[in-house]
Amino acid sequence: MIESILERFAQGEDLTKEDLCTLLRVPVGSRDYYNLLAEANGYSRKAFEGKGLLFGQIGLDIQPCRINCKFCSLAADFLKGCTPFIRDLDDTVQLAKQLADAGVRDVFLMTTAEFSQERYLDYGRAVRAVLPDDVRLVANVGDFDEAYALRLRDAGFTGVYHICRLGEGVDTGASVETRVRTLDAVKAAGLELYYCVEPIGPEHTDEQLADEMLRPRQYPVGVMAVMKRTAVPGTPLAPRGEISAARLAQICAAATLAMRPKRAMCVHEPDELCLMAGANQLYAECGANPRDTEAETSKGRGFSVEDARAMLRKAEWS
Ligand code: SF4
Repeated sequence: MIESILERFAQGEDLTKEDLCTLLRVPVGSRDYYNLLAEANGYSRKAFEGKGLLFGQIGLDIQPCRINCKFCSLAADFLKGCTPFIRDLDDTVQLAKQLADAGVRDVFLMTTAEFSQERYLDYGRAVRAVLPDDVRLVANVGDFDEAYALRLRDAGFTGVYHICRLGEGVDTGASVETRVRTLDAVKAAGLELYYCVEPIGPEHTDEQLADEMLRPRQYPVGVMAVMKRTAVPGTPLAPRGEISAARLAQICAAATLAMRPKRAMCVHEPDELCLMAGANQLYAECGANPRDTEAETSKGRGFSVEDARAMLRKAEWS
């Protein structure tokens, strides 16, 4: 029975790891399951005033990435022999402008860990120059130190998407310590951090999920997210399969209660059930995508702005 946990949440108490594990253990489809989804949905409808949010992400490069994550279509082992592709700066600026014109509130520029840090700042400055002042510019890049975080800010970035992944150091070539150092650099530079519990697979325990729901509490996070791992055919982790939409909604609800995000709660892949379980924000995606084998994800898995808007409307987010 989870009533006392939901009651304490409603009274403003921060939930503990034990609370979150209890919420994550509730059987899918039970009365408690729907009570959990209802509490998260109620929180988000009120906190976000019924408004859905659209973000847009542009993947800038396709090149064998040395971090070699076992779920990623851009990993060095997966991309052996591929000819690197880097999106042209002018083309990127054009795309970013189109996304903003279409109603996207935050524009993300994503790269592999191979992308030149210096060159990335050029992209940031050029994109910032064409975005309206009220559209945020967010970096999604490899690890960096505080000096580089300050340079990102000076180039016009308002925030950074960075996370400690589930299975970091085991299923990826990055260490938890390196990831945390970057998270600390984001905070020290006064940038907004965008956090996500990802990439969630069937093997992850409730305890692992709860730990990653609680980690961002010590950082300036306004936007929280959950993302299931996509089983990209040919990647080492694909045989482990994917979690169900019902389970993702449960995790989405628990993460919403864990973090009480102030600006938005996001879900990957776009999912209607999660939009009734705390999520109110979706991405339009173009260019490279670690979850896609299509070089231009807008022709593959990636949603367009119109797709994302239509799904938000279906769940009655305005
Ligand atoms: S997920 Fe990111 S860091 Fe990992 S291999 Fe893919 S591009 Fe590199």
